[in-house]
Amino acid sequence: MRAELFGLNIDTLSFDDAVKKAVELINTDSVSQVVTINPEIIYASEKNETLKKAIDEAELVFPDGVGVKIALKINGIPAERIPGIDFAKKMLEHCASNNLSVAIVGAKEEIIVKAIENLRNEINNLNIVYYHNGYFNNDSEIYEELKAHNPQMILVAMGAPRQEEFIYRAKSVLNRGLMIGIGGSLDVWSGVVKRAPLFFQKTGTEWLYRTVSQPERFKRIFPTLPLFLLKAIKYKFIK
Ligand code: UDP
Repeated sequence: MRAELFGLNIDTLSFDDAVKKAVELINTDSVSQVVTINPEIIYASEKNETLKKAIDEAELVFPDGVGVKIALKINGIPAERIPGIDFAKKMLEHCASNNLSVAIVGAKEEIIVKAIENLRNEINNLNIVYYHNGYFNNDSEIYEELKAHNPQMILVAMGAPRQEEFIYRAKSVLNRGLMIGIGGSLDVWSGVVKRAPLFFQKTGTEWLYRTVSQPERFKRIFPTLPLFLLKAIKYKFIK
């Protein structure tokens, strides 16, 4: 199901259906984009034309955190929250068991190396054909390298909106690949950043844990969520 919120398309799927849809997309011979959407991305898309287009044209857009889920609910649309990091892990497992090739781009060099080492230990037969850290200026070089390796799935971990823009432009350059923006997932997989305790994961409040444990995030996130929910209430009445 596709819903509409603030003029953006958002897929309201269960975790399993999102995986099914992504598996279908991997099997097509074209490039597709998965966006895990949150209030910050929605705000950014109002001022960023490329990001807006990336979301509009993405094959799969789902709410990562509880913010968008609540905003949808306020507008009468039931939706599940699908944590991007869990979704990406599931897709890595799918690729491994179906012998599909994977590339990963993003994070600092030592982080991506460690994350890949950990993923390889955890997931049997993981076929990572290419990786690159997320600190580069010449996107074309990376596109060329991705093209040469022609992976079937590409995880991009450079934070929003950089990763969404990078993926969007890749769609007119690469030949194939399911491309997913995965934010700070490599930091977690490397073991450098700890994921929130299970309670926060289950209640969809990982952002709250991260905000409190990383004070520099506080300034970034704190005013966003209440304002976002107000915006959702206004949207319900003024749409
Ligand atoms: N990053 C990157 N290139 C950049 C800026 C950031 O690869 O130019 C990486 C950074 O090292 C981190 C991730 O992108 O691993 C962003 O993490 P953050 O938690 O800020 O992203 P979010 O999940 O909040 O979108």
